[in-house]
Amino acid sequence: MDKRDFLKGSAALAATMAVAGIADATDSPAPTPVPRENWSGTFHYHTNKVLQPANVAEVQDAVRSVNHARALGTRHSFNGIADSTVAQISTLGLKDVLLDAAAKTVKVGGGIKYGELAQQLDAKGFALHNLASLPHISVAGSIATATHGSGVRNGNLATAVSAIELVAADGAVHTLSRAKDGEEFLGAVVGLGALGVVTHVTLDVQPSYQMTQVVYEDLDFGQLEHNFAAIMGTGYSLSLFTNWQKHQAWEVWIKRRVDQGGDATPPPMFYGATLATKKLHPVVGQSAEKTTEQMNTVGKWYERLPHFKMEFTPSTGKEIQTEYFVPFEHAYEAVLAVESLRKQITPHIFVTEVRAIAADDLWMSMAYQRKSLAIHFTWKPEWEAVQKILPQIEAKLAPFQARPHWAKMFALKAAQIDKLYPKANDFKALVAKYDPQGKFRNEFLQTVLFG
Ligand SMILES: Cc1cc2nc3c(=O)[nH]c(=O)nc-3n(C[C@H](O)[C@H](O)[C@H](O)COP(=O)(O)OP(=O)(O)OC[C@H]3O[C@@H](n4cnc5c(N)ncnc54)[C@H](O)[C@@H]3O)c2cc1C
Repeated sequence: MDKRDFLKGSAALAATMAVAGIADATDSPAPTPVPRENWSGTFHYHTNKVLQPANVAEVQDAVRSVNHARALGTRHSFNGIADSTVAQISTLGLKDVLLDAAAKTVKVGGGIKYGELAQQLDAKGFALHNLASLPHISVAGSIATATHGSGVRNGNLATAVSAIELVAADGAVHTLSRAKDGEEFLGAVVGLGALGVVTHVTLDVQPSYQMTQVVYEDLDFGQLEHNFAAIMGTGYSLSLFTNWQKHQAWEVWIKRRVDQGGDATPPPMFYGATLATKKLHPVVGQSAEKTTEQMNTVGKWYERLPHFKMEFTPSTGKEIQTEYFVPFEHAYEAVLAVESLRKQITPHIFVTEVRAIAADDLWMSMAYQRKSLAIHFTWKPEWEAVQKILPQIEAKLAPFQARPHWAKMFALKAAQIDKLYPKANDFKALVAKYDPQGKFRNEFLQTVLFG
């Protein structure tokens, strides 16, 4: 991402609107006033034209009405992946939910937020296998970027997808399923918005379950050298939080399932870390009121798996995010490699989170055929400084073939990313099949994928 992506001030925004205005003069319908920046306000979109279809037929009309467009979810991505200079097609109006209790699947409109879906599913006795740190994000937008939670045995959220329905560049509707479409399905799920507009997603569900959450403080990194796998494998989902100082994780969040013994009294110490005696937020200075319940209290799966509550602003609200995925066997070396940059990193971060993700077979997933350790950075909104640090982190993690999170800020370009994804060329061929003229291509895809 270069500096141009981070347009600042009203003059730049006005210029952006003016460019979009030209497109509006040639493409109907008229622009709709919606926020023209991402969730954190750190990326300004280069169009003010947002089409808002309410059903599949309207998505088809929207796709046919424009020469170029990008699908848009809840705007929680940090880079230009959802950007367009012509139009965005928001799928937030598609929110229908159809549960098949016998098949243990749910078919949902692509625009539904995980937090909304979770409540509806739980009311009928069902649950998802995992959630991200926040429930505010749309299902289609999340699976498009391989959004993940934590847990060595838990695949990212896209691994729950058993079928997708999408509107391709010519306006035709296609349905691809795990059962009938083999490799093509595996290529299409983490689609980066490049194949078309996903209108419905079918997800695997399981019987509803209850969970607890506990937090430990001050885990020495020395414990990771010989116990990394055991530590990350504790409970159902575990996150380490650090600011890279003092060679330690200042918080360890452990989420446990009650049906796996997760309501047992937690030990007072965890690999030398101390059980917290009050509720905590991962970012120093932020109110713990915003975080899901801790202190080993039993609650619903969707009120423990995310870190942040649906009714509050997640994380800090004004931030930039970055994340790199390394093969789990290099977990400790990778942490030490990043730690060696602590003097540069610490002044500019709110927090780093370290999570584990199971390997999967989705072509463009960051965990494609690699059980992974994900090292995440919640940066202060200081792009001038952050953009200088990213290449340094990438150089340190290059020996481990680190893959960047598609939805977060990174500096790697197509030539480097190509080598990280064995199926990159197959994916480009798949994109050409559904979008032969490049209707859904944008500057981001050109820079990081097509080159
Ligand atoms: C506070 C915060 C916490 C986060 N925590 C996590 C985390 O725990 N784990 C993690 O992995 N990520 C995390 N993220 C990143 C987030 O999950 C991703 O940015 C995700 O893609 C956001 O989904 P969205 O609906 O906002 O999509 P958008 O940002 O709107 O779009 C993302 C991509 O999806 C495409 N897209 C959207 N809708 C469709 C559709 N209907 N059809 C086809 N393509 C579509 C867009 O074209 C774009 O390419 C976090 C982000 C924030 C702001």
